[in-house]
Amino acid sequence: MSTREKRGAALKAHALEILGRLKSEYPDADCELNFENPLQLLIATILSAQCTDKRVNLVTPDLFRALPDAPALAAADPEKVEDFIRTTGFFRNKTKSLLGMAAAVTERHGGNVPSTMEELVALPGVGRKTANVILGNAFGMNEGVVVDTHVGRLSVRLGLTSETDPVKVETALMPLFPRDAWALLSHLLIFHGRRICIARNPKCADCVLNDICPSSRV
Ligand code: SF4
Repeated sequence: MSTREKRGAALKAHALEILGRLKSEYPDADCELNFENPLQLLIATILSAQCTDKRVNLVTPDLFRALPDAPALAAADPEKVEDFIRTTGFFRNKTKSLLGMAAAVTERHGGNVPSTMEELVALPGVGRKTANVILGNAFGMNEGVVVDTHVGRLSVRLGLTSETDPVKVETALMPLFPRDAWALLSHLLIFHGRRICIARNPKCADCVLNDICPSSRV
């Protein structure tokens, strides 16, 4: 085995150890946005930009009740939508994204959120990260790894990649983990990033990964 191959195998073993430990630590790790169908998850994910999932979960029940499907959302008065989502921040831009997305889902897909990466990223306001959230959580498909701020930060701290661009981080993570664990991996890293490996002051002393983490402070 060449040195390069040995390094690759060691990194894969490191990745699997991280996955195993985080699975034991967070057996209930899952999407923290509340939803009952793909459209609701798509709406909640658009609203979650620069906002906590908790805050999103506070506004979505009334929004979903008032505008229950894509045609209703597409035809809604923007000011009415703004009122529902105001507290999630950037509400004017988010309203534009929601109305544009709903119009495209209605016109191009008969009101049903599509289930392919290609069709999802063609919707206004939907990038690869959002598409991965929908595919992984609403359709149970592991097409990629969701790389948000937590996943990006932890991937570097844990020595899984030195990349910081989300798409490059995703490309680095995919070959390290079994495909059927990609959606779960994001949830686990996000759970750990929110509770222990927080941005400013990671709680390394309380971290189940501190003996294998190259950034551990203990
Ligand atoms: S040891 Fe510290 S830096 Fe490493 S994953 Fe745990 S909390 Fe984060």
